[in-house]
Amino acid sequence: MEADSRPKKRLFVGLMSGALAALLLLGGLFALVLKGVGLGKAMGALLMSLSILFLGFLVIAAAGVLLLVLTLYKGREILFLGRLRGLIVKVIYPLTLFLGSIFRIPREKIQESFVEVNNQLVLSRRIKVKHDRLLLLMPHCIQNNECRTRVTGDIRNCERCGMCRIPDLIDLGEEYGVDIFVATGGTLARRLIKEKRPQAVVAVACKRDLTSGIFDAYPLPVLGILNERPFGPCINTEFDLEEVKESIRHFVVPGNGAAERPVEEFPGT
Ligand code: SF4
Repeated sequence: MEADSRPKKRLFVGLMSGALAALLLLGGLFALVLKGVGLGKAMGALLMSLSILFLGFLVIAAAGVLLLVLTLYKGREILFLGRLRGLIVKVIYPLTLFLGSIFRIPREKIQESFVEVNNQLVLSRRIKVKHDRLLLLMPHCIQNNECRTRVTGDIRNCERCGMCRIPDLIDLGEEYGVDIFVATGGTLARRLIKEKRPQAVVAVACKRDLTSGIFDAYPLPVLGILNERPFGPCINTEFDLEEVKESIRHFVVPGNGAAERPVEEFPGT
């Protein structure tokens, strides 16, 4: 998984660095234009102070990007950098989308890379929560589209006919003692998060829904798993059960369902 994910992370890191370089360039151009215009002493001093402030900001931002890259590639939190996930989710991600649209990079590729970076930052924090504070959200399209059984309220309504993998999820939920819900869309997913008040979420969805879910759920730590769409979008989609298990194990300890390390406080992830 790691070997596949590196190029994905690289795209986001590249765009993030590009955004920083663009800011630097803009700042330089702005300074040149002002110099050409010719200003009075007082105005010149004011602009000089502003330029120094801006430069200071860029140096700090560059150091932040460097440390983030180290956090991403080392797989563990460096200098609390994992806590800056908010900056990535709320500020840098929209910026990378903007930059990507200029360079005509497909939005889906950036979203995939963003999910990968987000996951790495969440994993780097090594958060543990009690089994009943973890919420597993699955998309409705994993249910066989011919099935008339309603599993959105309770997946245990499934009659285990074997036409989809809902029964595997029921078993998984029982094994780890975690709540698993099938959501028909972002609105229901958001409502479930509000009602259940989990401390961590594992979500399976398509790139678009995962990125908006991670964005909306922040500061909740969300591990996102992309579903596979062999029949096209939103119909009989599939997922990697092992990846789901691995994500659950990352957050909770199997067997006793108790936290291995003290449960972290939120916000701040
Ligand atoms: S396994 Fe359950 S949810 Fe899936 S198609 Fe059969 S009855 Fe429906």
